[in-house]
Amino acid sequence: MKRVVVLGCTGSIGDSTFRVLEGLGPEYQVVGLSGGRQLDKLVALARTWKPAWVGVADTADVAAVAARLPGVRVVAGEEGLCQLATLPEADLVINGLVGGVGLRPSLAGLEAGKTMGMANKEPIVMAGGLLLAAARQGGGQLLPLDSEPNALWQCLKGEESGSLARLILTASGGPFRGQTRAQQARVTPEQALRHPTWKMGAKITVDSATLMNKGFEVIEASWLFGVEVDQVEVVIHPESVVHSLAEFVDGALLAHLGRTDMVMPIQYALTHPQRRPAPLERLDLAKVGQLRFSAPDRENFPCLELCYEAGRRGGIAPALLSAADEVAVAAFLAGRIRFLDIADLNRHVLDSQPASPADTLAAVLAADQLGRRLAAEWIERPNPKGAL
Ligand code: MG
Repeated sequence: MKRVVVLGCTGSIGDSTFRVLEGLGPEYQVVGLSGGRQLDKLVALARTWKPAWVGVADTADVAAVAARLPGVRVVAGEEGLCQLATLPEADLVINGLVGGVGLRPSLAGLEAGKTMGMANKEPIVMAGGLLLAAARQGGGQLLPLDSEPNALWQCLKGEESGSLARLILTASGGPFRGQTRAQQARVTPEQALRHPTWKMGAKITVDSATLMNKGFEVIEASWLFGVEVDQVEVVIHPESVVHSLAEFVDGALLAHLGRTDMVMPIQYALTHPQRRPAPLERLDLAKVGQLRFSAPDRENFPCLELCYEAGRRGGIAPALLSAADEVAVAAFLAGRIRFLDIADLNRHVLDSQPASPADTLAAVLAADQLGRRLAAEWIERPNPKGAL
């Protein structure tokens, strides 16, 4: 019996996780669920999966949700997420939260010895060193659910760490692949949300359009697999069939291929080292026909380079960048800034502060707050290029 908590269960990671759990059957039991604003969906999922604990974002919603779920303990906010991530009865916590809010629950879960399945990459970007230290101290384990780092994890199984030369992350290139900055000037949120190969939440889809998401994966992979950011390369692969590759000292490349469906990495994280049949159509390589690879366009997608810079600087630089990007993407989706402003805002915040150490939670949280404040100020500044 494996007992599972799903944080952020009403989003797209939750949808995929429940598809996996349906297929795996009664050997897997849901003991805790959390959701944000989609309370009807959260209540419906709790009725189906019958967890003992449910978390909501807002304390004001606790009484109403509790009234609809007799016998269920309802908790709220970040504190509630930490309670769910550390439930004594839980073995594995799926973190499908969006953004920096996932940091504290991830640390708490690892300190309590839980296996944290991380689809939420911002905490790793912000505080990878702290998460690894928490895992070492508490006996927890950090498993990547995102398709690329999950693919790398599989490629590296059984290999000696000294034999790895570099990691190669694939990127679809997003909806604006091949476009110049000038051509991206009028991009609308609707266009940015139309990802060519993956169906995901809004934040990560916009991050995929700017290549910020790929840059975050570079930082994430450097922590998870113990390499420098410059040992992680990005290659554009529009078909998204190859999920990533590991290159070894002898020049051999091992790749992970599969359908573009989060069911596959999530299921593997739940069942590994075993593999089970998954509710997915088989990949027909003859139908795929060809696999293309090209270098990323760093000039027209500057967010990728920003992540390399933040990773090289280290310290609080990635946390500042992650915080800035969260504010930037929300402002873009709200129609307050332009698509190209996301990169400019992120550059401004990253360059405005020295990369002081990120060796305590307090330092990371302070950097997160500072990044958000600087980003908000940038948005409010008089705009020399004119209003939207
Ligand atoms: Mg990914």
